[in-house]
Amino acid sequence: MIDGYGRTINYLRLSVTELCNLRCRYCMPEEGVCKLRHDQMLTEDEMIRAVRAAASLGMNKVRITGGEPLVKPNILSICRRVAAVRGITETVLTTNATRLAAFARSLREAGIRRVNVSLDTLNPERYAFITRRGVLAEALQGIEAALDAGFDKVKINAVLIGGFNDDEVPDLAALTRRWPVDVRFIELMPMPGDTLFGEHAYISADKALAMLPDAVPVPEHDGVARLYRLPGAQGNIGLISPLSNHFCAECNRLRLTADGHLKPCLHSRDEISVKGMTEEEMAEAMRRAVAMKPKQHDPLSCSERSRAARQMNQIGG
Ligand code: SAM
Ligand code: SF4
Repeated sequence: MIDGYGRTINYLRLSVTELCNLRCRYCMPEEGVCKLRHDQMLTEDEMIRAVRAAASLGMNKVRITGGEPLVKPNILSICRRVAAVRGITETVLTTNATRLAAFARSLREAGIRRVNVSLDTLNPERYAFITRRGVLAEALQGIEAALDAGFDKVKINAVLIGGFNDDEVPDLAALTRRWPVDVRFIELMPMPGDTLFGEHAYISADKALAMLPDAVPVPEHDGVARLYRLPGAQGNIGLISPLSNHFCAECNRLRLTADGHLKPCLHSRDEISVKGMTEEEMAEAMRRAVAMKPKQHDPLSCSERSRAARQMNQIGG
């Protein structure tokens, strides 16, 4: 599908749950989410119907996200069925990796080609602090299991938070020497209602790059990331700059939330519900959502927060 600004929309981000076993401070509240909304969530069959509708419109890539997809009891079935939809050539998954050690092989067998792992720090105390409950060793074991499971690629995503992990940029980047992984630094996005981080927390990806004097540009394309490489590294460093250098001109995606709302833009309130629809109705709703995609989102900064009417765990990142 081509949107009103000539962008090809070929990528669906499918959030399969709002629930998570962690509580990252920039993503969701400490008390978690209200589980009473269960009957408002998409069923597995509705998710697959939505993926079929997307494929019928020419979309070929699906990222399974959440919340934490690996807390969803039927996650393997969802992955297997998404990967089997005719026209879907890339099924990938984003996880916090704390349960990945148990799931990596089965996910690979279910047809997941690549995994993105979120990891903001290599310090166990800091990890417990930022996730409000996580155990760093579990995430590291998950990453090692993913490397053993034979995915086409494993990427590590770190949210840059000034005063929290900016001093770890060189150590996180050095993971590309230790493992065949890409490490991507993502600017912290100011989500609505999230008042935990002050101005100093919002640091630019270029500031991270300045801490990597040996990094050289790589003329490869990786979606919205600018790529660099350290000498002797097995993978790339990526910089993703939604604040300092927004990449709306290259936006190729639609989002579908776990409660069945299509989001034309991550940072807009606009949503279209597909809950209870037939495949044809979902396809029509997707056409409308693509037609509604704005040229770009409003500026983001500490004082200009995202207009999304949801927390990140309710969107899928
Ligand atoms: N639970 C999985 C995980 O953490 O990888 C998947 C869902 S999580 C919402 C997807 C991504 O969104 C993660 O990489 C997370 O770091 C990122 N994210 C969440 N809140 C963010 C924020 N305020 N700014 C930037 N990235 C954020
Ligand atoms: Fe959970 Fe991922 Fe959000 Fe952290 S970023 S709270 S792991 S959904």
